[in-house]
Amino acid sequence: MKRRQFVQSVGRVSGAAFLGAWSWTGSALAQERIESMSKEDWKEILEPARYDILFREKTERAGSSPLDRIYDPGTFICAACYQPLFSSEDKFDSGTGWPSFTQPISDDAIGTKTDYKLIWPRTEYHCSRCGGHQGHVFDDGPEPTGQRWCNNGLALNFIAAGEPLPELRP
Ligand SMILES: [Zn+2]
Repeated sequence: MKRRQFVQSVGRVSGAAFLGAWSWTGSALAQERIESMSKEDWKEILEPARYDILFREKTERAGSSPLDRIYDPGTFICAACYQPLFSSEDKFDSGTGWPSFTQPISDDAIGTKTDYKLIWPRTEYHCSRCGGHQGHVFDDGPEPTGQRWCNNGLALNFIAAGEPLPELRP
């Protein structure tokens, strides 16, 4: 695809048409679920600051999330649908002020697309189950992957090891 077409498609940041441009890596079931749950449905469930990040692709202020400073053992789940996305084992301090990980908990948990909001391409990633925007992945991370999955803290919930994971919603 030519760059100009990319820019045009990124211009459609709201509405169902934009959802169609995402490259889903989740299961067929996950795709079925997102179709049954609209952005309006999520807006009713989520607090506004979380909704703005998850479904309007806003970015929280650096250093604003307490999750950035949590290094206890546990699981980081999608704040919308509760799918597990990251393990504390893969968390590291990137110094950016956002929770950062070297890899997702599984490839199936994440979908990606390229965005051009900063002129040069960045890889946006989202929860494969609900489509909620999580953050961006960069190739300047530490071992073992060399990747830095830079996540909005408000798009995640932390479940400490030993506590039961909540049931997936809706
Ligand atoms: Zn989700």
